[in-house]
Amino acid sequence: MNPPVPVPNNAMLNVVAHPLVQHKLTLLRRRETSTNNFRRVLGEIGALMAYEVTRDMPLSFVDIDTPLERMKAPLIDGKKLVFVPILRAGTGLLDGFLSVMPAARVGHVGLYRDPDTLAAVEYYFRMPQQMEERDVVVLDPMLATGNSAVAAVTRIKAVRPRSIRFVCLVAAPEGIRNFSGAHPDVALYTAAVDRQLDEHGYIVPGLGDAGDRIFGTR
Ligand code: URA
Repeated sequence: MNPPVPVPNNAMLNVVAHPLVQHKLTLLRRRETSTNNFRRVLGEIGALMAYEVTRDMPLSFVDIDTPLERMKAPLIDGKKLVFVPILRAGTGLLDGFLSVMPAARVGHVGLYRDPDTLAAVEYYFRMPQQMEERDVVVLDPMLATGNSAVAAVTRIKAVRPRSIRFVCLVAAPEGIRNFSGAHPDVALYTAAVDRQLDEHGYIVPGLGDAGDRIFGTR
């Protein structure tokens, strides 16, 4: 077994230690968790991660009438948010995010890992209009080599959104290094930092192939 790669000191790395997130991640990790339950729990954990990721979103104050009087009350502008799942496993987190912020827009980035080089190859890219006014949250359950995440964020930066955050559930130290090296300005949220990558580029102990577990394709 290779020695674990140390995680760099990184102010942009947020490990979401909330007990509900940790409990649900354990359910996802279990080999015996069915496709049905995996998908459901992934949705639930997505909603909890959305809560953390939106913690410092700007609020604007609008005039409203309560039954008793007029007041200025805070609102997040949901339409300014864009959730961008990296196809295909990122879509497993999308419903959870939309359950918390239903007015958000959705973009998609299609990337696959070349099985020999593990490099990310783009096959689809579609974003809403006026990206310069929008805050992007990129979704992918696994940050393994980090190559897909780096490529997705590089591509999204080219359309000049106001901000970008990246959310995963399980990150490998190698992926964090790669991602933070390429995009030191992008906040990274994860529920766990696991030991390392294996020789096939899977995170260990990890939870297996997230796409296969969401869609029941293996
Ligand atoms: N992608 C996955 O789905 N799982 C891993 O462990 C690594 C990459």
